[in-house]
Amino acid sequence: MIRLHNVSKTYHLKGSRDGAPPGVIEALKNVDLHVPQGQIHGVIGLSGAGKSTLIRCVNLLERPTAGSVFVDGQELTGLSGGALNQARHRIGMIFQHFNLLTNRCVFDNVALPLELMGMKRAAIRERVAPLLELVGLADKADQYPARLSGGQKQRVAIARALASRPRVLLCDEATSALDPQTTGSILALLRDINRKLGLTILLITHEMEVVKSICHRVSLISDGELVEEADVGDFFTAPRTRLGREFLNDFLQLEPPRALIERLEAAPGEHTHPVVRLAFSGDAVSTPLISRLARECGVDVSILQAKVESIQERTLGLMIAELIGTSGETARAVDYLETHDLHVEVLGHVQRDD
Ligand code: ADP
Ligand code: MG
Repeated sequence: MIRLHNVSKTYHLKGSRDGAPPGVIEALKNVDLHVPQGQIHGVIGLSGAGKSTLIRCVNLLERPTAGSVFVDGQELTGLSGGALNQARHRIGMIFQHFNLLTNRCVFDNVALPLELMGMKRAAIRERVAPLLELVGLADKADQYPARLSGGQKQRVAIARALASRPRVLLCDEATSALDPQTTGSILALLRDINRKLGLTILLITHEMEVVKSICHRVSLISDGELVEEADVGDFFTAPRTRLGREFLNDFLQLEPPRALIERLEAAPGEHTHPVVRLAFSGDAVSTPLISRLARECGVDVSILQAKVESIQERTLGLMIAELIGTSGETARAVDYLETHDLHVEVLGHVQRDD
């Protein structure tokens, strides 16, 4: 439904007044992305990574410097003027700061794109009423934005984005200005719309919580490049890049105690034992693996931290543990864990106290 092929975006900065030299910013570099119909795809990255540029290239609010953009089978990068405007009716967008018109009531904000399309008043009324119903604001049609909460404003923006019956919804940090509880209710609404209308959603965020709660798939953007893409369950079990692991550790707050980190050595030595981070999902969660590990490999396991998370329909267990035994025993233990569908990462080695 959305396809980006080799998209790059370069900004040329003019020299600033205080004499700084002109510069070139490569905000996107050779981005390939495919979001199938009906999917919720998240793009996560740090501030300045290129997220907003990426999403604005999808509806050509920014025109890519190179590459092509297809939405619903049509190449947007080949269009301009009226044809591009027409194509944009199939793409809705919502923003961090809602972008409502303050001098228009809720109804008239939602009606605006339809007015611009030249739709008759009666038809507009028929279209807007069910949308306000859908977003839970049927009783607020005559209110002005100033009297609404942040969550209600975003609901108006969602109704407005859906007014032209788009096939795709783009969300640029749509919940970043909202408190956690309101964020939850807006994400639930987006999930609901995705299911009811089969709407394809591309959202960008810097929050793992958003990815965890509604995305099917996620891409990681760093310095203008997509560096990792995975199903959300896989990403939360075993991110493949260092940045992915940093996002995950930040989110889970599952880091070894500082005192231990300071003692960690990269290479194993004669009198050291490994500290491992284990991630397990599915059947492994309910199997008594740790006691079996102790029995079958002869190691002692000292659990430093552990937690269980629910991600989509999957249960994910995470643990940081020291494996205590001879180097042969601990190597066998790591093998044993790997063959039992656990993701094992050796964080380092610590000196044995004994
Ligand atoms: P994000 O949304 O991930 O925070 P952006 O896409 O806004 O990142 O920005 C990516 C990079 O492009 C940044 O270095 C930013 O300063 C630069 N940038 C974004 N928009 C413009 C613009 N209109 N002109 C010049 N540079 C820009
Ligand atoms: Mg941004």
